[in-house]
Amino acid sequence: MGSSASDVLVIGGGIIGTSIALRLARAGLRVSVVDADADAGQATRASAGMLAPQGEMVQPDDFFELSRFSRDLYPGFLDELESLTGERVDYHRDGTLLVALDETQMEELDQVYRAQSQLKLPLERLSGQEVRHRLSGLSPELAGGVFVPGDHWLDSQQLARVLVKAAEKAGVTFHRGVSAAGLNARTSRVESASVTAPASTLSARHFVLAAGSWSGPLAQSLGLRLPIQPCRGQMVELEAAMDLPFVVRAGMHYLVPRPNRRLLAGTTSEYAGFDSRVTAGGLHSILQGVMRFAPFLKDAHFRTAWAGLRPDTPDHYPVLGPAVWENLFFATGHFRNGILLAPATAQWVADWILRGQPSRSLDSYRPSRFAS
Ligand SMILES: Cc1cc2nc3c(=O)[nH]c(=O)nc-3n(C[C@H](O)[C@H](O)[C@H](O)COP(=O)(O)OP(=O)(O)OC[C@H]3O[C@@H](n4cnc5c(N)ncnc54)[C@H](O)[C@@H]3O)c2cc1C
Repeated sequence: MGSSASDVLVIGGGIIGTSIALRLARAGLRVSVVDADADAGQATRASAGMLAPQGEMVQPDDFFELSRFSRDLYPGFLDELESLTGERVDYHRDGTLLVALDETQMEELDQVYRAQSQLKLPLERLSGQEVRHRLSGLSPELAGGVFVPGDHWLDSQQLARVLVKAAEKAGVTFHRGVSAAGLNARTSRVESASVTAPASTLSARHFVLAAGSWSGPLAQSLGLRLPIQPCRGQMVELEAAMDLPFVVRAGMHYLVPRPNRRLLAGTTSEYAGFDSRVTAGGLHSILQGVMRFAPFLKDAHFRTAWAGLRPDTPDHYPVLGPAVWENLFFATGHFRNGILLAPATAQWVADWILRGQPSRSLDSYRPSRFAS
């Protein structure tokens, strides 16, 4: 491991840490990323890749604006990755079909429809029959649905790979299999991170904590309270008889297209500590959940399954910004929306480091809200 100090040391090489590293390297800074895993991005690798700010929105709020802003950065972000790597990430703006299995779910979708129609967001309300016209093979029992053209998706496993390649091209140094054990501070500044394997300290002018579900203990090494809890999500990959044209979703259960008739079926939401194993109960609930609205999957082939740990916070919002020490920034707690929020998070953290403040207020997400 090189011992020369970086301008910025990013702890955690998932989508959040790597996007920030890329932004800063492109601004001319010397950036290093340490990641405990050989294959970085524990939650990132597990994700479905939905860029879906609208699906559940019934009350327009700051988080909705933030999410829409980040979704709209994606085309430019992916162009940038392509210009650095020559690889185009599979990205689709064909919308999301939300379906209701009964009248109660339809009432929930109607609330989404009414709230967003008032804001003049384009949505289509569909009867059960219209839903089945959109996609044959869906259950005849469906009460109806809402089509959301503004909710997009991409191949997040491919994105994770291409992003790392782009960051390396931009000059970011990755230290993989290197775990940060703690941060060391003196007076007003963090001076170094203690790392294992090989044991040493890495110094830098700025530090970014982007260690996903594992961020809490690292903050604790400086006496800071950061209550991040891992929320396990399991995922099943299937191969169907046809390509799925868009995301289909009923509550927690969804199908997200992948190339070559593959699709991802998700998910679960479980607080099981740091256990990221797939369980029989998880697989059962996902398959039962998606087959209720998509019975055509009964002949789909099982390919593989996995689980990831979403970094959750008590209010389910991310933790963004400077944290007590003037050169320490938190970028974590993205819970269910880290893929969606990565381009905007990277822009704001880079703004803080390069210009002293982000281009919009991020007060609701400040680390100090969990201080006591
Ligand atoms: C099943 C599932 C489906 C999802 N679907 C979507 C979706 O459709 N859309 C969406 O927007 N979001 C989705 N998410 C959420 C999204 O995946 C996460 O919010 C996002 O990946 C978080 O990224 P991260 O970089 O913060 O964390 P991670 O990807 O977990 O990366 C954190 C990294 O920090 C490293 N690390 C930890 N401790 C240390 C240490 N001490 N030293 C060095 N490195 C360390 C870890 O090895 C890890 O690589 C989903 C998540 C799951 C689990």
